[in-house]
Amino acid sequence: MTTMLRHCERSEAIHIIKMPLIQITPEISYLPSVETPISSDVVFIKPEGSETTWIFDVGTTSEAAEIINNMEGKKNVVISHFHPDHILNLLKIKYDNLYVTKYTKKYTRVGTIVDSDLEFSDGIKIYPFPSSHSKGALALEYKDYAFLGDATYCHFRLNAREYNVQLLEQMIKRMEQSSAPNFCLSHDKDFVQPKESVLRIYRKILARRKSGNPTINVNDFFNDDGGVKESEDSLGNNVKVKL
Ligand SMILES: [Zn+2]
Repeated sequence: MTTMLRHCERSEAIHIIKMPLIQITPEISYLPSVETPISSDVVFIKPEGSETTWIFDVGTTSEAAEIINNMEGKKNVVISHFHPDHILNLLKIKYDNLYVTKYTKKYTRVGTIVDSDLEFSDGIKIYPFPSSHSKGALALEYKDYAFLGDATYCHFRLNAREYNVQLLEQMIKRMEQSSAPNFCLSHDKDFVQPKESVLRIYRKILARRKSGNPTINVNDFFNDDGGVKESEDSLGNNVKVKL
């Protein structure tokens, strides 16, 4: 995989078809999400001295499948949640181990269910992450980076975009416990964001809760066409619905 790595800014990467991976650190790189066909970011982590590459979400594009299949060594795949844009390539790729939530396993049929915090000898941590976006989610943490997939985004139901108050409280608590100073959010143009600025946004959303109401509506962050409204505090950008 190392021959495919190249340190570059995202804008540069768009023009480099053969070297699409963006390097975050020498051990961590990712293939950015795309809109058509919709595909999640695909993260690759090869801890120094380890034979294993950890892959967080596998996306849908043939480019992602090709990169995964051309990689040498052992491959462990972790799926954040069961939405198709995160799991579809499981049908096209070869891997050694797969880690999923019990809800994701309903779709994948295979994989080890993760229902408590796991820490591996190479420093990789996987843990259940409270989420309004989908039933069940997993986060992966390595050194200074926590990969959260879409878990921080709102839930979309009967034209209502909303957060479950309890899950949002639990999510914020879990974020506070994380020792990683950087959070990585899928589908975001700023894939890597400081933990504190991400936390500030979700605390602001939680502050909207009204007693007796189990949900917080965030419809006002969206335009009629479903697009996210630009706002000064980027609240809207951080609740986006991606399926
Ligand atoms: Zn999703």
